[in-house]
Amino acid sequence: MAEKDCIFCKIANGEIPSATIYENGDFRVILDVSPASKGHALILPKEHFKDIFDIDADTAGKLFSLATEVARAMKSILKCDGMNIVQNNGIIAGQTVFHFHLHLIPRYEGDNISLKWEQQESVQTELRELAAQIRKKI
Ligand code: AMP
Ligand code: ZN
Repeated sequence: MAEKDCIFCKIANGEIPSATIYENGDFRVILDVSPASKGHALILPKEHFKDIFDIDADTAGKLFSLATEVARAMKSILKCDGMNIVQNNGIIAGQTVFHFHLHLIPRYEGDNISLKWEQQESVQTELRELAAQIRKKI
């Protein structure tokens, strides 16, 4: 269902025009209007899901499968040296549009894009305990 006042619902469903790379019944792939690099693309489901916690596994699976095809086409045309796949969930994580979307960010030698974080220490026993806790919820 389209969400009233959601810009990505309107773009995904063609109510607002966009630079569309690809479209099928479930998704629209567009070029980001404020790209991090040349060719920065977004995959939008046509149905409104807020984020990773909201989207169903089947749609997310189809979306990522499509991402592999789009990524290969982009690499061939853009001649990029690499690519980051980014997907933000929640304000703290940098999400600004609250309609699930996957970023495909082509990377070029010498670009100044930074997706870095500081690595922290970990304790093996704590990692295993935490892994077990999460596993029980899957
Ligand atoms: P995020 O911060 O992960 O929510 O990403 C939102 C992305 O949507 C940003 O990279 C914006 O540049 C992009 N964006 C916002 N409005 C539009 C629009 N009308 N058309 C294309 N991309 C957009
Ligand atoms: Zn939406």
